[in-house]
This record gives sequence, structure tokens and C-alpha cells, in this order.
Amino acid sequence: MAGPGDDTPSARTPVDVHMERVLDALETLRTRGVDSVELADALGRITAEDVRSPIDLPPFRNSQMDGYAVRAADVASAPVSLPVVGEVAAAPGDPAPLKPGTAVKIMTGAPVPDGADTVVPVEDTLFADDHVSIARGRAAGEYVRDVGSDLRRGRVVVPWMTRLASRHLAALAAASITDIDVLDRVRVAVISTGSELVAPGEPLGPGQIPDSNGIALAAAAQACGADVVLRARVQDDTDRLVAVFEEALQLGAELILTSGGISMGDHEVVRELLEPEGAIIDVLAMQPGGPQALGDRDGVPIVGFPGNPVSSQLSFELFVAPTLREIAGLPAAGRETRVLTSAVSSISGRRQFLRARRVDGGGVELVGGPSSHLVAALAASDVLVVVPEDVTELAAGDSVETWEL
Ligand code: AMP
Ligand code: MG
Repeated sequence: MAGPGDDTPSARTPVDVHMERVLDALETLRTRGVDSVELADALGRITAEDVRSPIDLPPFRNSQMDGYAVRAADVASAPVSLPVVGEVAAAPGDPAPLKPGTAVKIMTGAPVPDGADTVVPVEDTLFADDHVSIARGRAAGEYVRDVGSDLRRGRVVVPWMTRLASRHLAALAAASITDIDVLDRVRVAVISTGSELVAPGEPLGPGQIPDSNGIALAAAAQACGADVVLRARVQDDTDRLVAVFEEALQLGAELILTSGGISMGDHEVVRELLEPEGAIIDVLAMQPGGPQALGDRDGVPIVGFPGNPVSSQLSFELFVAPTLREIAGLPAAGRETRVLTSAVSSISGRRQFLRARRVDGGGVELVGGPSSHLVAALAASDVLVVVPEDVTELAAGDSVETWEL
């Protein structure tokens, strides 16, 4: 393992080594419990069981068209004219049975009266003097939606392990299901460390900055399907950090993310607390995001990111997001090869992640510089360009791997 004071490129820990450690530490998150949620809160959740319909879909025989409900036998000798003896709307109630030799006006979705077996669309008819004229014969069952023709009662509406989208919610609602068992979301605590931090919106005193990592990491975790159970900001004070870790555990956090306090300066609160407990505090062969930490509290993994905003956001994306997305049934972030619009140089032995913007024609142009405090430049980017460890020079026109942000 590389020591933090040792900054010769070869002595830094390879990115993939730390990646493996974090992936191992996050394995525990893959075992999920079950939550019961209401339909209105179920979007994006994953079903924990096969959900079966308690009713037939549709629940009653109904008309597929606005028209006239008749007996096929009565219109077999078309053209015919039948007296229109009533009307059935899409409204509660049970229509009277249809008498032979008659028709009733019927609306889409209205129950088809007993005795009627076909619906003649209004556009195929003429109505005059309380009679409807029908020009040609009709097959039984035409424009009639049978009970259970979509799904039979007791059958599976949405199978186990489905990530619920609006179409699934529609089918569940149609089956009159209100509560669904879903996998619980990974409970994440996000802790920003730094005595210079204040809440966004608070007046900034000398030496103070708004805490942007807190909001970014929480949002990124939510975007990966996680439930953020705690957002906290602590001064560089180990007692305060201990108390916040305690709070996170009490709130049921299964993963604790910290930002700041793990590099080589003084007042590195996460390092001071966790390193003596055996946590890994390391410097990786990457830029930005060199310093990284991995520890635990009562078995709950703590993944510690550096404080610089670009570093912390990138570190989340690199080390944590793929696992959370997988658990939440979300697709992996997009990766594609693009062509650089300008030359790039990179430090030997570091995996470099550059902020960039896609341009038409498969190109990608860099945004801002390589420094890890450029939070606005990151916001203006839509991809990261990945420059591998062994690459030091790239020319305009060279192909590079890009990661969608
Ligand atoms: P650290 O990793 O604690 O040494 O912090 C590195 C840099 O990131 C410093 O410039 C900090 O002020 C800045 N920083 C640390 N935490 C945050 C945060 N939560 N939001 C914005 N900037 C931060
Ligand atoms: Mg700090």
C-alpha cells in the first residue's frame, strides 16, 4: 500500500486495487429486506414478489367502441333497422338485458348488456326515428372486451424483481392493488467534514465556503436509487464525527459516505479518527481523487472521499455508484468512445478523469482544467474523459473513453 507522503507515481495504489476493496465492502448491501409501499410511492422500486391480480382485467364485459350493442343474430340479415331501446354509459350500474330484435346505444367502457354479443361502431350506423340502421352483418364478440381478456384473476400482473415504471403502476392500479412489497432501498448517510463549511445560503464569513459535497453526494446516491437517511456537516473535530457516525447507525444507515479530512494536511478528521482503528487511508494513482478511505463502524462500511468537489463526485461515480445502480436495478452509466477536439497531456502513472462536453459528430471537448476544485466546470460538463495510466499525450483526433455524467 502506498503511504500518503509518498508521491512518486509508481508508489501510489492502483485504482483497481481500491475499487476491489470498496466492491468487497459493499457486498453486504446486496442482501435487501422488504418494504411495503403505496402505489403512489412505488415508482422506481423493485418488486419483492410476483404481484398477482385479485380481479379479472377487465373486471366486466364492456364495449370497445361508442356504438350500438346488438345480437349478432339480429344483424345477420343486414341491412337491418333495429329499435333503440336505451343507452348504457361508462358509469356505475348494471344494464338491463337486451331484448331480442332491439339495440341499445353504448359508450366505450360501458358494460355490455346480457343478451348482446356484439357492438356496432357508431360510424357504421345511421340513426333516425329511434331506430338504428346497420348495413352489414357482424361477428359475435366484435368490439366486446371480455372479462379477463387482458389478465385472469390470480395471474401475475408484475413479476418479482421488476423495477416499477409507470406502465407497471398502471397495471397494478387497474388490478386495484394499493400496497406492494418492494426491496428496501440502500440507506445511506452523507457526512461532509470541514470547519470551513457552512450550509448553502448561509452568509459566508472569511474562510468559509458552502458545503457543496453534501448536496452532491446525497443527490448522486438518490439518483442511484438509495435512500439518504442522514445528511450532516461536521467541523474538523473527532468527537463531533464520532457523534455523527453514531447518529447514522441509529438511523439505520448501511453505508456511510464522508467527504474531506483524509489527505495529508493537519485537521484531517476522518483520517485521525479512522486510521488508528485500522481503516485504509490511501493515495491512489488517479487524478483527481488521489486520497481515498475505507473503514467501517460496527460493520457498516464507511467510504471516505476527498473534499475537493470534483474529487468527491468523481470518487462516488467510480467506486460506489455502479454497485448502488446494480442493486436498484438501474442501468449502468453510459460509456462510449469519442474523438478529442484538442490535445491532452497527462501525468504518467495516473488515471486521469477530465471534464468534458460532447460535441456533434462524435467529438468531445474539454471543459475547465484538471484541478479538482472546479465545481462549476464540472456542472458545465456532460462526460468525463478517461486517460489511462500509461498514456501521457493525446492529440486532437485521438479516440478516448468517455463516461456519461
Ligand atoms: P480536504 O479533503 O478536507 O482537505 O478538502 C479539500 C478541499 O475541498 C478544500 O479546499 C476544502 O475546502 C474543500 N471541501 C471540503 N469539503 C467540502 C465540501 N463539503 N464542499 C465543498 N468543498 C469542500
Ligand atoms: Mg478538510
